Amino acid sequence: MSSGAERGSGAMGASADAAADALVEGVLGGGRRALAQAITLAESSRADDRDRAEALLDALTPHAGGAIRIGISGAPGVGKSTFIEALGRLLTDDAHRLAVLAVDPSSAIGGGAILADKTRMEMLARNPRAYIRPSPSGTTLGGVARRTREAMLVCEAAGFDVVIVETVGVGQSETAVAGMTDVFVLLLSPAGGDELQGIKRGIVELADVVLVNKADGELAGAALRAAAEYRHALDLLQPRLRGWQVPVMTCSALEGTGIEDAWRTIERCHAHLRDSGRLRERRTEQQRAWLCSEMSEQLLAAMRADPAAAARLAEVEQAVAAGDMPPAVAARRLVEAFLRRARD
Ligand code: GDP
Repeated sequence: MSSGAERGSGAMGASADAAADALVEGVLGGGRRALAQAITLAESSRADDRDRAEALLDALTPHAGGAIRIGISGAPGVGKSTFIEALGRLLTDDAHRLAVLAVDPSSAIGGGAILADKTRMEMLARNPRAYIRPSPSGTTLGGVARRTREAMLVCEAAGFDVVIVETVGVGQSETAVAGMTDVFVLLLSPAGGDELQGIKRGIVELADVVLVNKADGELAGAALRAAAEYRHALDLLQPRLRGWQVPVMTCSALEGTGIEDAWRTIERCHAHLRDSGRLRERRTEQQRAWLCSEMSEQLLAAMRADPAAAARLAEVEQAVAAGDMPPAVAARRLVEAFLRRARD
């Protein structure tokens, strides 16, 4: 980090800088309180926290990037938290350190939170080698995704070597999660039929590994049949990753069977990505996409904060809403006028 003299002036600036440095040191040292504080700061939407949050992320980013980043998605009730508990036990017993983050689209839409239930992953929550962070709230999925990305960087800087980003299988959150992780795992239930439609809708196209959960008791046969159906359906799709045939496996998160196989497969997929150079490419593409989405969000925020641009936007919005002006034309005029004013 830069010295206190460069960043702040006087005693106040120096003590704020000392606190910021202590927070960075705390995170890098693996302190849990520092970790929670750093993520809270990164998640804050208060304007006066933003500068501190940016300085923190700037200092931590060189220490991030070392984890296996896993996205896990599936419909509510399919067994995501049970699976993550079982996988978490396996990983932490094997000396890994696991962070679990969530992207909950419902927290952006209605304030309801499908993934925020406090009773989820109780054992993992008490495990000193694991860290669980519920979904941040936000007004847009983009905002929630941004904060989760930043939380992931903080966790990596704190030494977690496996990060799971979990989401529910609704809306566009899968795309957001696949866009911030290395390996995307789709959890399905033994009931075929309706879920097979999901394959056509494209969610399965994002998957690198497909797991049919609840392969136990009376559901064991159905799980095997569903896995065969998914395998067949996937054969007809273009693979997301060249040279990687998406494996479809069964497991029982409840009984703990198939969990180790699932982990070995995730590791194999990650190794394939790394060895083929695709990991670097995927992450580079993700960084570029993140940059672009940050630019558009920040441009939009700057325009909304500018009184003249906001007034024009209000006018034009009416014309667009009434169908009198195409949105693309309106957007181009607004942006051009804003940039012209910024230049003058
Ligand atoms: P989530 O909403 O996807 O996180 O699902 P949960 O992990 O909360 O599980 C939903 C329900 O399915 C709970 O009652 C679990 O006990 C049950 N469940 C989860 N995994 C399994 C499994 O492997 N086999 C069976 N039979 N039930 C499971």
